[in-house]
Amino acid sequence: MREILHIQGGQCGNQIGSKFWEVICDEHGVDPTGRYKGDGSSDNQLERINVYFNEASGGRYVPRAVLMDLEPGTMDAIRSGPYGQIFRPDNFVFGQSGAGNNWAKGHYTEGAELIDSVLDVVRKEAENCDCLQGFQVCHSLGGGTGSGMGTLLISKIREEYPDRMMLTFSVFPSPKVSDTVVEPYNATLSVHQLVENADECMVLDNEALYDICFRTLKLSTPSFGDLNHLISATMSGVTCCLRFPGQLNSDLRKLAVNLIPFPRLHFFMVGFAPLTSRGSQHYISLSVPELTQQMWDAKNMMCAADPRHGRYLTASAMFRGKMSTKEVDEQMLNVQNKNSSYFVEWIPNNVKSSVCDIPPTGLKMSSTFVGNSTSIQEMFRRVSEQFTAMFRRKAFLHWYTGEGMDEMEFTEAESNMNDLVAEYQQYQDATADEEEEFEEGVEEQYEG
Ligand code: GDP
Repeated sequence: MREILHIQGGQCGNQIGSKFWEVICDEHGVDPTGRYKGDGSSDNQLERINVYFNEASGGRYVPRAVLMDLEPGTMDAIRSGPYGQIFRPDNFVFGQSGAGNNWAKGHYTEGAELIDSVLDVVRKEAENCDCLQGFQVCHSLGGGTGSGMGTLLISKIREEYPDRMMLTFSVFPSPKVSDTVVEPYNATLSVHQLVENADECMVLDNEALYDICFRTLKLSTPSFGDLNHLISATMSGVTCCLRFPGQLNSDLRKLAVNLIPFPRLHFFMVGFAPLTSRGSQHYISLSVPELTQQMWDAKNMMCAADPRHGRYLTASAMFRGKMSTKEVDEQMLNVQNKNSSYFVEWIPNNVKSSVCDIPPTGLKMSSTFVGNSTSIQEMFRRVSEQFTAMFRRKAFLHWYTGEGMDEMEFTEAESNMNDLVAEYQQYQDATADEEEEFEEGVEEQYEG
């Protein structure tokens, strides 16, 4: 069995993480006490359940999850919530100090004090695994704990488990949803870490989630609960190929191999169809062509970037429900043929698709899209501009230097993210011919 160890940190990380567990417990037929209550008609629910769950004595399924925070509030709410009893009590690790939306507190001071207790629990879970494939971390990048301490944990895990995969579900900040001005600082410092220490990052951008709620779902004042409903549907879709039997992207490494042509470019745009608000999903039923059309639509992307402003290096699509594989293949080819200029021609067959016959709860069919698009630079540019506007005047820097941080780390983080943007641009512009011309040009230069 190839196990995945899940870790959630900070307010946002814990909120989206616990939603994820509610959704996948339901999909695998596990009730809030950890007992299997599935319909029995489908072995599929249990065949790969060990990827995410441990089996405890008495046949109970326990999430292989570690919950961490620098304050107790969010975790208290989870513990007293509907699925609070399903988690292993020893896997709740928390402090009392809080991180005050300060990345430095999460990464260097308060978080650094708590990190060893978290690593102890992580180690214990890892030792229990038959053959751990990797880790997944849920966190926001705009605050202090999920962001600062989350990336500290990621770097410690990388040090201790260098050959295991690291997947993140990272929530990017947007002024539309939050009112903390230093979020671009925290996010940029985190991206600097994720570029080096994570293998694959699913970008969940609050700006896009807010727009989907407001424009598509017509919710006039979207709450975190509404945003998190979209996130949990997406997380369920993205992990479907890891949790159920199938061929495509069946583990974290295969997913990475298919999607990452260059190691730094591992930030994925994810899309979901059909989009539903909480409570309304039972009424929506779509055909394969409609799902395909929506899934590729910029309006369905959980990242505020328009794929038509860039090109796809690679993409994967996971369809769920009872449908014809042949029709899925035809529809997917159709999209690529009609839009060939939006796919780099120097990676042939860069779009893969698969069908899992178990639909998500409440829907007959759905599809999830994971794309490595150069247009994601738009989102990084947005954060970078907000960062630079403040950093130019060194605004709010004292909160970070007060925790012992050096200004240099800000400068490095800023240029690392700008480099990332430039790299996306470079591959966006690259065509097979230009590449040759470029090489010839370089040769001439050296000859001359
Ligand atoms: P932490 O507890 O120090 O990690 O801080 P938070 O997780 O509260 O980080 C603040 C950032 O996360 C801001 O950008 C918030 O908009 C965002 N955020 C907080 N809670 C949620 C949530 O439940 N869902 C979503 N989508 N974003 C959240």
